[in-house]
Amino acid sequence: MRILTIIGARPQFIKAAAVSRAISTHNKLGGNRIDEFILHTGQHYDHNMSQIFFDDLEIPKPAWLLNCSAMMPEPMSKEITDTVKNEKFDCVLLYGDTYSTLAGALAAENLQIPIAHVEAGLRSFNNAMPEEHNRIETDHRAKWLFCPTTTAVENLTNEGITRNVHLVGDVMYDAALIFAGIATKKSDILTRLNLRHKDFYLATIHRAENTNTENLTRIFSALSSIATDGTPIVLPLHPRTRNVIDSDACMKAKVFGNSAIKIIEPVNYLDMIMLEKSARLILTDSGGIQKEAYFHQTPCVTLREETEWVETVNAGWNKIVGTDAEKIKSAIESPFAKQLITDYGSGDSAQKIIEILCSGNY
Ligand code: UDP
Repeated sequence: MRILTIIGARPQFIKAAAVSRAISTHNKLGGNRIDEFILHTGQHYDHNMSQIFFDDLEIPKPAWLLNCSAMMPEPMSKEITDTVKNEKFDCVLLYGDTYSTLAGALAAENLQIPIAHVEAGLRSFNNAMPEEHNRIETDHRAKWLFCPTTTAVENLTNEGITRNVHLVGDVMYDAALIFAGIATKKSDILTRLNLRHKDFYLATIHRAENTNTENLTRIFSALSSIATDGTPIVLPLHPRTRNVIDSDACMKAKVFGNSAIKIIEPVNYLDMIMLEKSARLILTDSGGIQKEAYFHQTPCVTLREETEWVETVNAGWNKIVGTDAEKIKSAIESPFAKQLITDYGSGDSAQKIIEILCSGNY
């Protein structure tokens, strides 16, 4: 079986790492051989947003590396189509909800290759988010829909998609389990940043809705007031957020002038796991980090108005607060219920995906 994996953005590298490992294990065990060919769209291209993940997570080298960093899905899909049109694949494997995901879906449709969508069925019900459009369009073109949660399955049912929908758990949970032990052994980020266990906050900001001057100013003013209790905030800065800050001299001076907020470059996945495990609390607008907070048993405050990962909220690990400083402060100060979440599987989601794809139903 020949699989074309199309990835291009940081969270996709982490998800694909878990599945590539499962493919390698499957081949070693002598099942029907799977040949995986990776196409990297180049959506994320900085060393610490891309190559570092291939190195640390031992993701196979891409067969094709495109240069589609600032492209919308339609032109990106044309690049993909032109690149692989003379190849034969049994399936295109897509992850999540980025422009690379939708571009891959459009290219696969054009080339008439069946699509497998990992992280199918997630919905924020916020149609202003590009990610929501990307996921819906990809799900409606997919032949196999691999859902991480029961809510995702229900979302698909509500849209009339019931065929070939598989509740497999979350490949990000697989990745968290695979790499948490390695992170503990290898990462020295706590020493490098002079951080003490459970004595700092971790923050990340990169969503389009938050990376405008108005919302960023609100978020940084909230972070500054939180840090007045003497607890430092570590913030690995996404390139998109950095660009907005760099373009506003006043904001730049405030953000970089506050010594309580430690702004650092984006970190590798092993360092990120250590930060997530060791933080007292995480403030984020990331989808993946909301879940990783739970995987590593750290409470989370989400700087958005809604989430796709509703089970983290229902179980009391995650509070949805938006960008209002008072709401953020009061969420941090009030207790978290911290109940068990039964979604996300048991670390064998990637293996299940491979078994289903190998069962010959295409
Ligand atoms: N991540 C990382 N280094 C960082 C920030 C995030 O390795 O400096 C990882 C994080 O652990 C998670 C993924 O990147 O696995 C989340 O990506 P991001 O927040 O960019 O995207 P989203 O999950 O919102 O789609």
